[in-house]
Amino acid sequence: METEHFDVIVAGGGTAGVAAAVASARFGAKTLLIERSGCLGGAATMRNVVTFCGLYTLGETPTRVVGGIADDIIARLRSEAAITEPQRFRGVFVVFDPETLKGVLDDLVIEANVHVMSGAFVCDARRQEGRLQELKVATHGGLRTFSADAFVDCTGEGDLSAFSGASTRYGNNAKVNEGSMATRFGGIPSDITVTADDVAQAITKANFHLSDVTKNRSVIIRLPRSGDMVVFLASEDYDPRDSFSMAAAEQRARRQTRNYLQAIRTIPGCESAHLSESGPEFGTRESRHLNCRHQLKWSEIETRTTFDDCIALGAWGSEWHERSTHQSSFDYPPDKAAYHIPFGCLHSVDTDNLFCAGRLADGDRKAGAAIRVMGAAMATGQAAGLAAAMEAQGSWTVGELQSALLSQGAVLNYSNSR
Ligand SMILES: Cc1cc2nc3c(=O)[nH]c(=O)nc-3n(C[C@H](O)[C@H](O)[C@H](O)COP(=O)(O)OP(=O)(O)OC[C@H]3O[C@@H](n4cnc5c(N)ncnc54)[C@H](O)[C@@H]3O)c2cc1C
Repeated sequence: METEHFDVIVAGGGTAGVAAAVASARFGAKTLLIERSGCLGGAATMRNVVTFCGLYTLGETPTRVVGGIADDIIARLRSEAAITEPQRFRGVFVVFDPETLKGVLDDLVIEANVHVMSGAFVCDARRQEGRLQELKVATHGGLRTFSADAFVDCTGEGDLSAFSGASTRYGNNAKVNEGSMATRFGGIPSDITVTADDVAQAITKANFHLSDVTKNRSVIIRLPRSGDMVVFLASEDYDPRDSFSMAAAEQRARRQTRNYLQAIRTIPGCESAHLSESGPEFGTRESRHLNCRHQLKWSEIETRTTFDDCIALGAWGSEWHERSTHQSSFDYPPDKAAYHIPFGCLHSVDTDNLFCAGRLADGDRKAGAAIRVMGAAMATGQAAGLAAAMEAQGSWTVGELQSALLSQGAVLNYSNSR
Protein backbone atom coordinates (compact mmCIF):
# COMPACT_ATOMS: atom_id res chain seq x y z
CA MET A 1 0.00 0.00 0.00
CA GLU A 2 1.15 3.56 -0.68
CA THR A 3 2.50 5.69 2.15
CA GLU A 4 -0.12 8.30 3.03
CA HIS A 5 1.14 11.68 4.20
CA PHE A 6 -0.29 13.84 7.00
CA ASP A 7 0.77 17.19 8.44
CA VAL A 8 0.65 15.74 11.96
CA ILE A 9 0.40 12.21 13.33
CA VAL A 10 -0.60 11.65 16.96
CA ALA A 11 0.12 8.16 18.31
CA GLY A 12 -2.19 7.11 21.17
CA GLY A 13 -5.74 8.33 21.79
CA GLY A 14 -5.84 8.80 25.58
CA THR A 15 -6.74 12.16 27.12
CA ALA A 16 -3.40 13.61 25.99
CA GLY A 17 -3.69 12.22 22.45
CA VAL A 18 -7.26 13.40 21.89
CA ALA A 19 -6.35 16.91 23.10
CA ALA A 20 -3.27 16.91 20.84
CA ALA A 21 -5.16 15.73 17.75
CA VAL A 22 -8.09 18.11 18.25
CA ALA A 23 -5.77 21.10 18.88
CA SER A 24 -3.74 20.25 15.78
CA ALA A 25 -6.78 19.79 13.54
CA ARG A 26 -8.46 22.96 14.86
CA PHE A 27 -5.28 24.83 13.88
CA GLY A 28 -5.82 23.58 10.32
CA ALA A 29 -3.37 20.67 10.13
CA LYS A 30 -4.35 17.44 8.38
CA THR A 31 -4.12 15.20 11.45
CA LEU A 32 -4.09 11.43 11.94
CA LEU A 33 -4.82 9.94 15.38
CA ILE A 34 -3.76 6.29 15.80
CA GLU A 35 -5.24 4.25 18.65
CA ARG A 36 -4.63 0.57 19.35
CA SER A 37 -7.88 -0.11 21.24
CA GLY A 38 -11.55 0.20 20.26
CA CYS A 39 -12.33 3.58 21.83
CA LEU A 40 -10.63 6.84 22.71
CA GLY A 41 -9.83 7.91 26.27
CA GLY A 42 -6.96 5.59 27.25
CA ALA A 43 -6.91 5.10 31.02
CA ALA A 44 -10.16 7.09 31.35
CA THR A 45 -12.17 4.56 29.36
CA MET A 46 -10.03 1.39 29.23
CA ARG A 47 -8.64 1.30 32.77
CA ASN A 48 -11.49 2.65 34.90
CA VAL A 49 -9.49 5.72 35.90
CA VAL A 50 -12.67 7.77 36.24
CA THR A 51 -11.47 10.90 38.06
CA PHE A 52 -9.87 13.90 36.37
CA CYS A 53 -7.10 15.12 38.69
CA GLY A 54 -4.96 18.18 38.08
CA LEU A 55 -7.77 20.46 36.92
CA TYR A 56 -7.95 22.37 40.22
CA THR A 57 -5.51 23.71 42.78
CA LEU A 58 -5.58 21.80 46.07
CA GLY A 59 -5.99 24.60 48.62
CA GLU A 60 -9.11 25.65 50.51
CA THR A 61 -10.61 27.45 47.51
CA PRO A 62 -9.84 25.30 44.47
CA THR A 63 -9.02 27.29 41.32
CA ARG A 64 -9.40 25.80 37.86
CA VAL A 65 -5.99 25.78 36.09
CA VAL A 66 -6.74 23.81 32.91
CA GLY A 67 -9.00 25.18 30.16
CA GLY A 68 -9.07 24.83 26.39
CA ILE A 69 -10.07 21.38 25.17
CA ALA A 70 -10.61 20.23 28.77
CA ASP A 71 -13.37 22.89 28.97
CA ASP A 72 -15.10 21.34 25.95
CA ILE A 73 -14.89 17.84 27.41
CA ILE A 74 -16.19 18.90 30.81
CA ALA A 75 -19.02 21.03 29.38
CA ARG A 76 -20.22 18.13 27.24
CA LEU A 77 -20.05 15.67 30.13
CA ARG A 78 -21.92 18.17 32.29
CA SER A 79 -24.68 18.60 29.69
CA GLU A 80 -25.30 14.84 30.01
CA ALA A 81 -25.15 14.86 33.85
CA ALA A 82 -22.13 12.57 33.53
CA ILE A 83 -19.64 14.45 35.72
CA THR A 84 -19.67 15.46 39.39
CA GLU A 85 -18.74 18.72 41.05
CA PRO A 86 -15.18 18.80 42.47
CA GLN A 87 -14.60 16.36 45.35
CA ARG A 88 -11.70 16.09 47.75
CA PHE A 89 -9.67 13.06 48.88
CA ARG A 90 -5.95 13.87 49.08
CA GLY A 91 -6.46 16.22 46.16
CA VAL A 92 -9.39 17.77 44.33
CA PHE A 93 -10.94 15.88 41.41
CA VAL A 94 -14.13 15.39 39.40
CA VAL A 95 -15.65 11.96 38.71
CA PHE A 96 -17.11 11.19 35.26
CA ASP A 97 -19.04 8.40 33.59
CA PRO A 98 -16.58 6.61 31.24
CA GLU A 99 -19.28 5.42 28.80
CA THR A 100 -20.44 9.01 28.23
CA LEU A 101 -16.82 10.11 27.84
CA LYS A 102 -16.31 7.66 24.94
CA GLY A 103 -19.09 9.40 22.97
CA VAL A 104 -17.90 12.89 23.92
CA LEU A 105 -14.39 12.16 22.63
CA ASP A 106 -15.78 10.64 19.40
CA ASP A 107 -17.83 13.81 18.81
CA LEU A 108 -14.82 16.07 19.45
CA VAL A 109 -12.52 14.33 16.95
CA ILE A 110 -15.27 14.03 14.30
CA GLU A 111 -16.17 17.73 14.59
CA ALA A 112 -12.48 18.72 14.33
CA ASN A 113 -12.02 16.53 11.20
CA VAL A 114 -9.35 14.38 12.78
CA HIS A 115 -8.63 11.19 10.78
CA VAL A 116 -8.91 8.36 13.33
CA MET A 117 -7.63 4.78 13.19
CA SER A 118 -8.59 2.27 15.88
CA GLY A 119 -7.33 -1.28 16.30
CA ALA A 120 -4.06 0.16 14.98
CA PHE A 121 -0.80 -0.46 16.84
CA VAL A 122 2.22 1.75 16.13
CA CYS A 123 4.92 -0.91 15.81
CA ASP A 124 7.86 0.73 14.07
CA ALA A 125 9.16 4.15 13.02
CA ARG A 126 11.98 5.61 10.95
CA ARG A 127 14.08 8.55 12.01
CA GLN A 128 16.71 10.22 9.84
CA GLU A 129 19.02 13.19 10.45
CA GLY A 130 17.27 14.15 13.68
CA ARG A 131 13.76 14.05 12.24
CA LEU A 132 11.04 11.42 12.39
CA GLN A 133 10.04 10.49 8.84
CA GLU A 134 7.37 7.81 9.01
CA LEU A 135 5.81 5.13 11.19
CA LYS A 136 4.37 1.68 10.69
CA VAL A 137 1.01 0.60 12.03
CA ALA A 138 -0.08 -3.04 12.50
CA THR A 139 -3.74 -3.48 11.58
CA HIS A 140 -5.88 -6.51 10.78
CA GLY A 141 -5.41 -5.46 7.14
CA GLY A 142 -1.63 -5.77 7.49
CA LEU A 143 1.19 -3.32 8.06
CA ARG A 144 0.60 0.27 6.87
CA THR A 145 3.07 3.13 6.61
CA PHE A 146 2.27 6.81 7.21
CA SER A 147 4.56 9.82 6.96
CA ALA A 148 4.12 13.27 8.49
CA ASP A 149 5.84 16.61 8.98
CA ALA A 150 5.50 16.38 12.77
CA PHE A 151 4.60 13.70 15.32
CA VAL A 152 3.22 13.61 18.85
CA ASP A 153 3.85 10.55 21.02
CA CYS A 154 0.89 10.14 23.38
CA THR A 155 1.13 6.37 23.75
CA GLY A 156 1.98 6.64 27.44
CA GLU A 157 4.41 3.77 26.85
CA GLY A 158 6.66 5.84 24.55
CA ASP A 159 6.31 3.28 21.76
CA LEU A 160 6.60 5.70 18.86
CA SER A 161 9.65 7.42 20.32
CA ALA A 162 11.44 4.22 21.35
CA PHE A 163 10.76 2.37 18.10
CA SER A 164 12.10 5.35 16.13
CA GLY A 165 15.36 5.36 18.09
CA ALA A 166 14.70 8.78 19.66
CA SER A 167 16.25 9.14 23.10
CA THR A 168 13.96 7.64 25.78
CA ARG A 169 14.36 6.14 29.25
CA TYR A 170 12.32 3.75 31.42
CA GLY A 171 11.17 5.39 34.66
CA ASN A 172 13.68 7.54 36.49
CA ASN A 173 16.94 6.33 38.02
CA ALA A 174 15.69 2.72 38.23
CA LYS A 175 12.47 3.84 39.96
CA VAL A 176 9.10 3.30 38.25
CA ASN A 177 5.66 4.00 39.72
CA GLU A 178 3.70 0.84 40.47
CA GLY A 179 0.65 -0.08 38.38
CA SER A 180 -2.82 -0.97 39.71
CA MET A 181 -5.82 -2.72 38.22
CA ALA A 182 -8.82 -0.48 38.87
CA THR A 183 -11.84 -2.54 39.85
CA ARG A 184 -15.51 -1.63 39.64
CA PHE A 185 -18.11 -3.13 41.96
CA GLY A 186 -21.87 -2.95 41.32
CA GLY A 187 -24.86 -3.89 43.46
CA ILE A 188 -24.09 -1.36 46.24
CA PRO A 189 -27.19 0.83 46.83
CA SER A 190 -26.43 4.48 46.12
CA ASP A 191 -27.65 5.57 49.59
CA ILE A 192 -24.97 3.39 51.25
CA THR A 193 -21.79 5.38 51.95
CA VAL A 194 -18.60 3.32 51.82
CA THR A 195 -15.41 4.98 53.06
CA ALA A 196 -11.75 4.13 52.56
CA ASP A 197 -11.68 3.15 56.26
CA ASP A 198 -14.65 0.76 55.83
CA VAL A 199 -12.87 -1.02 52.99
CA ALA A 200 -9.51 -1.10 54.81
CA GLN A 201 -11.13 -2.59 57.93
CA ALA A 202 -13.04 -5.22 55.92
CA ILE A 203 -9.84 -6.30 54.17
CA THR A 204 -7.91 -6.43 57.44
CA LYS A 205 -10.67 -8.46 59.10
CA ALA A 206 -10.71 -10.95 56.21
CA ASN A 207 -7.15 -11.76 57.25
CA PHE A 208 -5.87 -12.54 53.77
CA HIS A 209 -2.36 -13.80 53.21
CA LEU A 210 -0.07 -11.04 51.88
CA SER A 211 0.11 -12.73 48.47
CA ASP A 212 -3.73 -12.78 48.20
CA VAL A 213 -4.15 -8.97 48.26
CA THR A 214 -1.49 -6.29 47.88
CA LYS A 215 -3.18 -3.21 49.40
CA ASN A 216 -5.93 -2.41 51.85
CA ARG A 217 -6.42 1.34 51.27
CA SER A 218 -7.55 3.27 48.22
CA VAL A 219 -9.60 6.27 47.26
CA ILE A 220 -13.26 5.14 46.98
CA ILE A 221 -15.05 6.52 43.94
CA ARG A 222 -18.78 6.32 43.17
CA LEU A 223 -19.71 6.76 39.51
CA PRO A 224 -22.23 9.52 38.73
CA ARG A 225 -24.70 7.40 36.76
CA SER A 226 -24.51 3.75 37.82
CA GLY A 227 -23.41 4.37 41.42
CA ASP A 228 -20.78 1.66 40.86
CA MET A 229 -17.83 1.81 43.26
CA VAL A 230 -14.29 2.00 41.81
CA VAL A 231 -11.17 1.19 43.84
CA PHE A 232 -7.45 1.07 42.98
CA LEU A 233 -6.35 -1.82 45.18
CA ALA A 234 -4.91 -4.76 43.22
CA SER A 235 -1.35 -3.65 42.46
CA GLU A 236 1.53 -5.53 40.88
CA ASP A 237 5.19 -5.16 40.04
CA TYR A 238 5.62 -5.85 36.29
CA ASP A 239 7.31 -4.46 33.20
CA PRO A 240 4.72 -3.04 30.75
CA ARG A 241 7.18 -3.45 27.87
CA ASP A 242 7.12 -7.24 28.37
CA SER A 243 3.82 -8.94 27.42
CA PHE A 244 4.64 -12.09 29.43
CA SER A 245 5.23 -10.01 32.54
CA MET A 246 1.96 -8.10 31.89
CA ALA A 247 -0.13 -11.24 31.44
CA ALA A 248 1.17 -12.71 34.70
CA ALA A 249 0.42 -9.47 36.54
CA GLU A 250 -3.10 -9.34 35.07
CA GLN A 251 -3.79 -12.93 36.16
CA ARG A 252 -2.57 -12.24 39.71
CA ALA A 253 -4.53 -8.96 39.92
CA ARG A 254 -7.77 -10.54 38.72
CA ARG A 255 -7.34 -13.19 41.42
CA GLN A 256 -6.96 -10.34 43.94
CA THR A 257 -10.19 -8.68 42.78
CA ARG A 258 -12.16 -11.80 43.78
CA ASN A 259 -10.67 -11.58 47.28
CA TYR A 260 -11.53 -7.88 47.52
CA LEU A 261 -15.12 -8.66 46.53
CA GLN A 262 -15.33 -11.21 49.33
CA ALA A 263 -14.13 -8.57 51.84
CA ILE A 264 -16.40 -5.79 50.52
CA ARG A 265 -19.47 -8.04 50.86
CA THR A 266 -18.89 -8.07 54.63
CA ILE A 267 -19.49 -4.27 54.84
CA PRO A 268 -23.09 -3.55 55.99
CA GLY A 269 -25.21 -2.70 52.94
CA CYS A 270 -22.72 -4.26 50.50
CA GLU A 271 -23.87 -7.88 50.85
CA SER A 272 -25.10 -7.97 47.21
CA ALA A 273 -21.97 -6.39 45.72
CA HIS A 274 -20.71 -7.94 42.49
CA LEU A 275 -17.70 -7.49 40.27
CA SER A 276 -18.70 -5.19 37.35
CA GLU A 277 -15.32 -4.85 35.69
CA SER A 278 -11.65 -5.41 36.43
CA GLY A 279 -9.45 -3.16 34.32
CA PRO A 280 -10.15 -4.22 31.60
CA GLU A 281 -6.54 -3.16 31.05
CA PHE A 282 -3.93 -3.01 33.78
CA GLY A 283 -3.32 0.59 34.89
CA THR A 284 0.30 1.31 34.11
CA ARG A 285 1.15 4.56 35.87
CA GLU A 286 4.61 4.95 34.39
CA SER A 287 6.74 3.39 31.67
CA ARG A 288 9.11 5.17 29.29
CA HIS A 289 9.64 8.92 29.14
CA LEU A 290 10.83 10.87 26.14
CA ASN A 291 14.14 12.54 26.96
CA CYS A 292 13.33 16.19 26.29
CA ARG A 293 15.05 19.56 26.06
CA HIS A 294 14.07 20.23 29.66
CA GLN A 295 13.38 17.79 32.47
CA LEU A 296 10.97 19.33 34.97
CA LYS A 297 12.39 18.90 38.49
CA TRP A 298 10.39 18.64 41.70
CA SER A 299 12.74 21.28 43.11
CA GLU A 300 11.50 23.65 40.36
CA ILE A 301 7.91 22.95 41.39
CA GLU A 302 8.80 23.42 45.07
CA THR A 303 10.31 26.82 44.33
CA ARG A 304 7.50 27.70 41.88
CA THR A 305 10.04 28.41 39.14
CA THR A 306 8.57 30.52 36.35
CA PHE A 307 9.44 29.49 32.81
CA ASP A 308 9.32 31.81 29.79
CA ASP A 309 8.15 28.82 27.73
CA CYS A 310 5.30 27.89 30.10
CA ILE A 311 2.55 26.15 28.11
CA ALA A 312 0.34 24.81 30.92
CA LEU A 313 -0.23 24.99 34.65
CA GLY A 314 0.09 21.97 36.90
CA ALA A 315 -1.77 21.62 40.19
CA TRP A 316 -1.50 17.98 41.30
CA GLY A 317 0.98 16.81 43.91
CA SER A 318 3.66 14.19 43.54
CA GLU A 319 1.71 10.94 43.87
CA TRP A 320 4.11 8.04 44.23
CA HIS A 321 3.13 4.37 44.33
CA GLU A 322 6.06 2.29 45.56
CA ARG A 323 6.54 -1.13 43.96
CA SER A 324 8.46 -2.75 46.77
CA THR A 325 5.97 -1.93 49.56
CA HIS A 326 2.70 -1.25 47.65
CA GLN A 327 2.45 1.95 49.73
CA SER A 328 1.58 5.32 48.23
CA SER A 329 2.59 8.84 49.25
CA PHE A 330 1.44 12.31 48.25
CA ASP A 331 3.56 15.49 48.45
CA TYR A 332 1.66 18.72 47.91
CA PRO A 333 3.03 21.52 45.71
CA PRO A 334 4.00 24.61 47.73
CA ASP A 335 0.99 26.42 49.22
CA LYS A 336 -1.17 23.85 47.36
CA ALA A 337 -0.93 26.31 44.47
CA ALA A 338 -0.41 25.98 40.70
CA TYR A 339 3.00 25.75 39.03
CA HIS A 340 4.45 26.21 35.53
CA ILE A 341 4.93 23.34 33.06
CA PRO A 342 7.49 24.40 30.43
CA PHE A 343 7.31 23.51 26.74
CA GLY A 344 10.85 22.08 26.94
CA CYS A 345 9.56 18.96 28.71
CA LEU A 346 7.36 18.10 25.69
CA HIS A 347 10.03 18.47 22.95
CA SER A 348 12.40 15.61 22.14
CA VAL A 349 16.03 16.34 22.91
CA ASP A 350 17.29 14.80 19.68
CA THR A 351 14.37 14.75 17.23
CA ASP A 352 13.20 18.20 16.10
CA ASN A 353 9.72 17.23 14.87
CA LEU A 354 8.84 14.90 17.77
CA PHE A 355 6.72 16.10 20.70
CA CYS A 356 5.09 14.25 23.59
CA ALA A 357 2.42 14.78 26.24
CA GLY A 358 0.63 13.10 29.14
CA ARG A 359 2.47 10.28 30.90
CA LEU A 360 5.47 10.69 28.61
CA ALA A 361 6.20 14.33 29.49
CA ASP A 362 9.70 14.68 30.88
CA GLY A 363 9.85 15.06 34.65
CA ASP A 364 12.14 13.70 37.33
CA ARG A 365 10.81 11.00 39.68
CA LYS A 366 8.66 13.35 41.76
CA ALA A 367 7.73 15.94 39.11
CA GLY A 368 6.81 13.21 36.63
CA ALA A 369 4.52 11.71 39.27
CA ALA A 370 2.72 15.08 39.48
CA ILE A 371 2.27 16.09 35.83
CA ARG A 372 1.11 12.68 34.51
CA VAL A 373 -2.53 13.03 35.72
CA MET A 374 -5.31 13.52 33.18
CA GLY A 375 -6.02 17.21 33.84
CA ALA A 376 -2.40 18.04 33.08
CA ALA A 377 -2.38 15.48 30.23
CA MET A 378 -5.17 17.36 28.45
CA ALA A 379 -3.19 20.61 28.83
CA THR A 380 0.17 19.18 27.70
CA GLY A 381 -1.63 17.31 24.89
CA GLN A 382 -3.16 20.52 23.59
CA ALA A 383 0.24 22.26 23.69
CA ALA A 384 2.09 19.39 21.98
CA GLY A 385 -0.59 19.07 19.28
CA LEU A 386 -0.48 22.79 18.50
CA ALA A 387 3.33 22.78 18.45
CA ALA A 388 3.25 19.88 15.97
CA ALA A 389 0.73 21.70 13.76
CA MET A 390 2.96 24.81 13.76
CA GLU A 391 6.07 22.71 13.07
CA ALA A 392 4.27 21.20 10.06
CA GLN A 393 3.62 24.72 8.75
CA GLY A 394 7.29 25.75 8.92
CA SER A 395 9.09 28.11 11.25
CA TRP A 396 7.47 29.11 14.55
CA THR A 397 8.35 30.42 17.99
CA VAL A 398 7.27 29.47 21.51
CA GLY A 399 5.67 32.94 21.78
CA GLU A 400 3.47 32.10 18.79
CA LEU A 401 2.64 28.74 20.35
CA GLN A 402 1.60 30.47 23.58
CA SER A 403 -0.61 32.94 21.65
CA ALA A 404 -2.25 30.07 19.74
CA LEU A 405 -2.85 28.21 23.01
CA LEU A 406 -4.46 31.28 24.58
CA SER A 407 -6.69 31.71 21.55
CA GLN A 408 -7.80 28.07 22.03
CA GLY A 409 -8.77 28.88 25.64
CA ALA A 410 -5.77 27.31 27.40
CA VAL A 411 -4.67 28.61 30.81
CA LEU A 412 -0.98 29.61 30.86
CA ASN A 413 -0.63 32.02 33.71
CA TYR A 414 -1.84 32.37 37.24
CA SER A 415 -3.94 35.43 36.41
CA ASN A 416 -6.23 33.64 33.95
CA SER A 417 -6.86 30.57 36.11
CA ARG A 418 -10.43 30.35 37.37
C1 LIG B 1 -4.32 2.94 38.58
C2 LIG B 1 -4.20 4.35 38.12
C3 LIG B 1 -4.89 5.34 38.79
C4 LIG B 1 -4.80 6.65 38.35
N1 LIG B 1 -5.55 7.61 38.96
C5 LIG B 1 -5.69 8.81 38.36
C6 LIG B 1 -6.70 9.71 38.77
O1 LIG B 1 -7.45 9.42 39.71
N2 LIG B 1 -6.83 10.87 38.10
C7 LIG B 1 -6.01 11.22 37.06
O2 LIG B 1 -6.17 12.31 36.50
N3 LIG B 1 -5.03 10.38 36.66
C8 LIG B 1 -4.89 9.19 37.26
N4 LIG B 1 -3.95 8.31 36.81
C9 LIG B 1 -2.99 8.75 35.77
C10 LIG B 1 -3.61 8.86 34.40
O3 LIG B 1 -4.53 7.84 34.16
C11 LIG B 1 -2.56 8.82 33.28
O4 LIG B 1 -1.38 9.43 33.65
C12 LIG B 1 -3.19 9.50 32.06
O5 LIG B 1 -4.22 8.67 31.60
C13 LIG B 1 -2.18 9.83 31.03
O6 LIG B 1 -2.84 10.12 29.81
P1 LIG B 1 -2.16 9.68 28.47
O7 LIG B 1 -3.10 10.11 27.40
O8 LIG B 1 -0.76 10.15 28.45
O9 LIG B 1 -2.04 8.09 28.54
P2 LIG B 1 -3.11 6.96 28.48
O10 LIG B 1 -4.38 7.34 29.12
O11 LIG B 1 -2.42 5.75 28.97
O12 LIG B 1 -3.39 6.78 26.91
C14 LIG B 1 -2.43 6.22 26.04
C15 LIG B 1 -3.18 5.74 24.80
O13 LIG B 1 -2.24 5.29 23.83
C16 LIG B 1 -2.67 4.05 23.30
N5 LIG B 1 -1.47 3.34 22.84
C17 LIG B 1 -0.44 2.87 23.61
N6 LIG B 1 0.50 2.30 22.85
C18 LIG B 1 0.07 2.42 21.56
C19 LIG B 1 0.63 2.02 20.31
N7 LIG B 1 1.83 1.42 20.22
N8 LIG B 1 -0.08 2.28 19.18
C20 LIG B 1 -1.31 2.89 19.26
N9 LIG B 1 -1.87 3.29 20.42
C21 LIG B 1 -1.18 3.07 21.56
C22 LIG B 1 -3.40 3.37 24.45
O14 LIG B 1 -4.29 2.40 23.99
C23 LIG B 1 -4.10 4.57 25.11
O15 LIG B 1 -5.36 4.81 24.55
C24 LIG B 1 -3.99 6.99 37.24
C25 LIG B 1 -3.30 5.98 36.56
C26 LIG B 1 -3.42 4.68 36.99
C27 LIG B 1 -2.71 3.63 36.20
